[in-house]
This record gives sequence, C-alpha cells and structure tokens, in this order.
Amino acid sequence: LDRRIEVVNPDDELGRLARTLNTMIERLERSFDETRRFTADAAHELRTPLAVLRSEAEVALRQPRSPEEHRRVLENILEEVDRLTRLAEQLLFLCREDAGLVPVARGSVRIDELLSEVIEHMRPVAEENGVMLHVEPSASTEVSGDADQLRRLFFNLLDNAIKYTPRGGRIVGRVEPSGGGILAIVSDTGIGIPHEHLPRVFERFYRVDQARTQDTGGAGLGLSICRAIAEAHGGQLRIESELGRGTRVLLSLPAARPQGGRTDGHHRAE
Ligand code: ADP
Repeated sequence: LDRRIEVVNPDDELGRLARTLNTMIERLERSFDETRRFTADAAHELRTPLAVLRSEAEVALRQPRSPEEHRRVLENILEEVDRLTRLAEQLLFLCREDAGLVPVARGSVRIDELLSEVIEHMRPVAEENGVMLHVEPSASTEVSGDADQLRRLFFNLLDNAIKYTPRGGRIVGRVEPSGGGILAIVSDTGIGIPHEHLPRVFERFYRVDQARTQDTGGAGLGLSICRAIAEAHGGQLRIESELGRGTRVLLSLPAARPQGGRTDGHHRAE
C-alpha cells in the first residue's frame, strides 16, 4: 500500500509541498515499522521463559516428587523469573529512550572508582565462572554524568565479558584520561565475535549466535542499552574483537560540559 501523495508538477508550490509531505510519510512509516518489529521481537523474547515456567510447573504438579526434585524445579523457576525481570527492565529502558526520557543527571563522576566498584561487585560471579577479573590502576578520571546509568553500562559490559569468556580466561578493566575526557576499556580473552557480526552487535535483539547464547540467556539488548547511555553522555562506544581470542569494548566520554549545558536531567539519545 503506497500512502504517498502523487506529485503532478515537482517544481510548483504544490509539488514541493507534496514532496515534503512524502518525505514525512516515509519517515513515519519507517518508524512504525521499527515499532512493530520491536514489539514482535519483545513478545518473542517473553515467550521462551514463559514456556519454560509453564512446563516446569506442569511437571511439578503431575507426579509426586521428592523434596530434592521440588527444589530443583523451584530453582529453575526462579532463574526464569530473574530472566523475565531483567528483560522487563531492559524493555522499559528502551521505551524510555525512544520517548527521550532517559534521565541523565549531571553530577561529577569518578569513572576509575565507578569501574572498580562494579568490578568488585562482579567478582564473585567471575570467580564462580573460573574467570580472573583485574582492574588496572589509573589516575583519577572524572567526568560529568549520571553515576547510575554509567554503573549500568559497566555492569552490562562486564556481564558480557564474563558470559562469553570460558574458564581460565581473564578480564581487564582500565580507564585513562583522553583529550580532556576519558577512555574506559573492558577487555576479555573470551570467544570473540566473528568480524562480519561486529557492526550489528549494537542493534536491539541482535545476538551473534542463537545456539551459543541460549543457555547464557541474553536477549541481545545489553549493548544497545550501553550505546544509548554512552551517547546520552555525548560519548561513544566501540567494539573490537577477534574470533577465539577476545573482545575489547571502548567507552569514550567527553570532558565535563561547559556551563550553560543541559542540566534539566533529560536528554534524547539519537
Ligand atoms: P546479550 O544480552 O545477548 O549478551 P548484548 O547486546 O549485550 O546481548 O550483546 C549482543 C551479542 O554480542 C551477544 O549475544 C554476543 O553474541 C555478542 N557479545 C557481546 N559481548 C561479547 C563479548 N565480550 N565476547 C563475545 N561476544 C560478545
């Protein structure tokens, strides 16, 4: 169905108006398509954990079970509930981002301290997975930004690094001053990402390999959220990777903004 207006004479005033309207219609349709795809992908992601919950509960009800078996079923159910909770939070974040409602408080944030804090928080999980977590000492690095959002960004990066690094691997976090701002790097010695997938990993719901990520449970939203946070801070997020050798994610954030910048706490990430 073509909703565009027919342009009779492209050079007269009506023709120019029609062309402008057509551009707007095309833009709106693209945005509707994106929304439709987002909703369909989100529904698809919700279906899997719900199906698992249902079958676990059914099995538990069907026959009498030992206390140990009941316990195992409950543990599986909890795991799926956690997965759903995380997904709901991620979807909510992205909806807010689309509406331009990601709050970016402007406070002074010590990035070196923040990264160390998140690394310490993740250490038990890394140890459980047999992965070494290391933070390189750095000079004091400060930017103007939202500590909660930046914490979420580092959490996602480290969560990925742990998920995609096999036992015996190593993850290093580093921050350095760069051009008045900072450069933070999270590198791992994990499975890496094939070259042809690299440009797409920041897309919503994009996963390199469905089979590979099935048991790790991500919906492919983590990196798109990280990039949105970086950009809402006027920064950039890049990724470098070599298959079978490891991955590096680089976050650059600009120097504190000059006075007169936005301080109302809202920013649209585009
Ligand atoms: P997910 O929540 O599925 O991990 P992300 O958006 O965070 O989604 O990442 C997208 C995809 O990029 C992942 O499914 C994974 O295939 C790949 N990926 C992300 N980080 C790494 C990493 N450190 N090492 C290897 N692959 C990674």
